[in-house]
This record gives sequence, structure tokens and C-alpha cells, in this order.
Amino acid sequence: MSNECVFCKIINKQIPSKIEFESETCLAFHDINPRAKIHVLVIPKKHIPTVNDLTDDDSDNMGALIMAARSVAKKLNMDSYRLLISVGKQAGQEVFHIHMHVMSPD
Ligand code: 5GP
Ligand code: ZN
Repeated sequence: MSNECVFCKIINKQIPSKIEFESETCLAFHDINPRAKIHVLVIPKKHIPTVNDLTDDDSDNMGALIMAARSVAKKLNMDSYRLLISVGKQAGQEVFHIHMHVMSPD
């Protein structure tokens, strides 16, 4: 948990969001500024700034993240979709709490 992090605040429900999936380790909610008809973000509940900060201990957590993305896609009736994780500012990462974009193709 980071006091400064917008996604940690969403996890703690200090900032409202439209949640699609929640487990012990992951949360999925709609992007506030959607760039596709369906645009959901899936995040680990553990505050990890970027993929470069992962350690071997996080592999189960990251496995759970992609399974959560799959659950969201299934729930929202998407069988074709894009999964994207940006790593670092130059690649377009704006929020430094790992997140996977789940986007419909339209
Ligand atoms: P990035 O560019 O870091 O890969 O993606 C960050 C995403 O988080 C952006 O698509 C942005 O719209 C979304 N975002 C930023 N702040 C909030 C927020 O307070 N609530 C929600 N639901 N999405 C947010
Ligand atoms: Zn965070």
C-alpha cells in the first residue's frame, strides 16, 4: 500500500470505481478514460510500481492477474480482446502500480 498511489486508493475504496472482479489478490475496474468500448484495468492488490520491480515471489500474483483478466473478459462476453502492460514512462506508463489493460477490439 502506498499513500500516494491512486490505484491503492481504489483498492481501499477511498476512490470510487466500477468494479468488475475482486479476489484476495487482484482487482479489476473500468478505466476512467476508456480507449475502447470496453476498457478494464486489472491490478494486483500488492503495490508494485512496475514489471521491472517484480521478484520471483510475485509469480503467483502475476499468474492470478492474467487469470483475473480472463475472468473479466468472460464476464463481459469478450472472446477477442487486447491485454497490455506498459512498463516505464517512455512506454506510456502513467500510474506506477502494475496494471493490465483489458480492451475490446472496437
Ligand atoms: P497507463 O497509461 O499507466 O498504462 O494507464 C493508466 C490508466 O489508468 C489510464 O488509462 C487512466 O485513464 C487510468 N486511470 C488513471 N486514474 C484513474 C482513476 O482514478 N480511476 C480509474 N478508473 N482509472 C484511472
Ligand atoms: Zn499502489
